Amino acid sequence: MKTLARRLPGPLTLLWAAAMSVLTLTPAKEMPRTPTWELLSFDTAAHAGVFAVLAGLAGLWALQHPRLRHPARWVLLGCIAFGALIEVLQYVMAVGRHAEWSDLLSDGIGAVIGLGVAIMLGRHLLPAAFGLALLLPHRTYAQVAEPDLARARRTIAELASPRLHGRGYVQQGEHLAATYLRQRLRRLGLQPLAPDFTQPFTLNVNTFPGKMQLAVDDATGIHGSEELVPGRDFIASPNSAGTTRLHTGVTKLDTLIFASPDTAIAWSRRLRQQALLLTSRDQSQLARLALPVRQRLDSAAQIVLVPKLTASLSGSQAPAPRFEVVANRWPSGKQLLRWQLDAQLIRNYPTQNLAAIVRGSARPDSFLVVSAHYDHLGMMGRKTYFPGANDNASGVALLLELAAHYARPENRPPCSVVFLLFGAEEAGLLGSRYFVQHPLVPLARIKFLLNLDLLGTGEEGATVVNGRVHTAAFTHLMALNEAQHYLPRLTARGPAANSDHFPFSEAGVPAFFLYTRGGSTAYHDINDQPTALSLAGFAGAFGLARDFLNSLGAR
Ligand SMILES: [Zn+2]
Repeated sequence: MKTLARRLPGPLTLLWAAAMSVLTLTPAKEMPRTPTWELLSFDTAAHAGVFAVLAGLAGLWALQHPRLRHPARWVLLGCIAFGALIEVLQYVMAVGRHAEWSDLLSDGIGAVIGLGVAIMLGRHLLPAAFGLALLLPHRTYAQVAEPDLARARRTIAELASPRLHGRGYVQQGEHLAATYLRQRLRRLGLQPLAPDFTQPFTLNVNTFPGKMQLAVDDATGIHGSEELVPGRDFIASPNSAGTTRLHTGVTKLDTLIFASPDTAIAWSRRLRQQALLLTSRDQSQLARLALPVRQRLDSAAQIVLVPKLTASLSGSQAPAPRFEVVANRWPSGKQLLRWQLDAQLIRNYPTQNLAAIVRGSARPDSFLVVSAHYDHLGMMGRKTYFPGANDNASGVALLLELAAHYARPENRPPCSVVFLLFGAEEAGLLGSRYFVQHPLVPLARIKFLLNLDLLGTGEEGATVVNGRVHTAAFTHLMALNEAQHYLPRLTARGPAANSDHFPFSEAGVPAFFLYTRGGSTAYHDINDQPTALSLAGFAGAFGLARDFLNSLGAR
């Protein structure tokens, strides 16, 4: 019945068009001409009526094809073109019928009315009306494009907007994000897996909520002073302390200290109140130095020159300020530093994971899990924030599209599908670690976990962390990808502690972490903006994840 109703509008449209052609193009005796101003005359009404039926049928037909863009526009254009063709043929074939421009107008009016009715019936009335729903079933006319890319873009834009302050621990950013996401889960009709979808936990985190200034003055007074821009030219290191300082001298690290312990001690004594200037390579070697030397360097303010700014979070504070400055933004010459930095180490900051479930119809105690972290790095000073569009508004958007899919009654899975939105991933996988220690479903009953993080690109396909661990599952994933050409390439990786799948893997839960490759390379910086994301692999990743989950028991 469903397939018949789905197939009917197509042939009916063609039949109707054929009948129209036959009736209008067969010779008839000359009829009296209709004056053009009598738009409501019988002839006009007949034209409009005939085209209303044509457009209505064609509309119902076109609306079944979710891939057809602007179906209404095509139907309308098609009907008017068909009307014009008939008028031209009537004129050329001289079949005794008259061709008139006013007919085209009535055709158009009829088509608009018919199309309007088709849209109303197809999208709103028919799925609701039981009797007619049999003839024109819900699936056919209320069909939703999956994933809804426009909605996914809106999700990413919302999560990455300045309103959410980088989803971190300044201005309640992560709380605002959680509030928005609870609302989304509720609207999708998902069941909470914890009260109000919320699993609370706390963390210690160092934040930069206030003053954020770094300036380099030329000691000779020739070049004046250079104000560096937060986020673009410099950031505070995750564990930086906050102080205010006027005119501190700068000493470049002498790499001889790595070669000779005696030099190191003598050199570090001379450092005193000076700020220490070093490269990221030097910094990685500081651990090699003897403890007294290290302590002295630790208590100095440090400027680390880096090729690219990559922000991060820390749960502790160093004894002195630490700045990271883009190497090519560092002015040459003899420098004096000025800075004002407000750093606040917050202990036991209350945050949360969000957890929702679509209960399985046949095996509700068997779980498939989709996870994504919604937190990001927050703010750096009063104005600069990290949007985190790719990391990980994109993964959250994909999770919500999968949630929307399984929340639909017709897609109700046999086993349960759990959706986990982790907090504090950027602070060291804290949310997922907490969940594994306080699981809301028995970990042993999780058949598979699919973690989504960095899903905003995809030009070069995707990588599957743990693909080399669960080789059978990865081979299966490859087969699904090749069957439907979802992503240009899938690459397997070994285990890695680089996202929220990791605590689950460690606890023995089979898990993949999927991330897309290619396109934007912005990462943990102010350029990770929604506009930089192509979403080239988003629909592919959606199809792949859905098919994978379905094959594991979600269908
Ligand atoms: Zn990240």
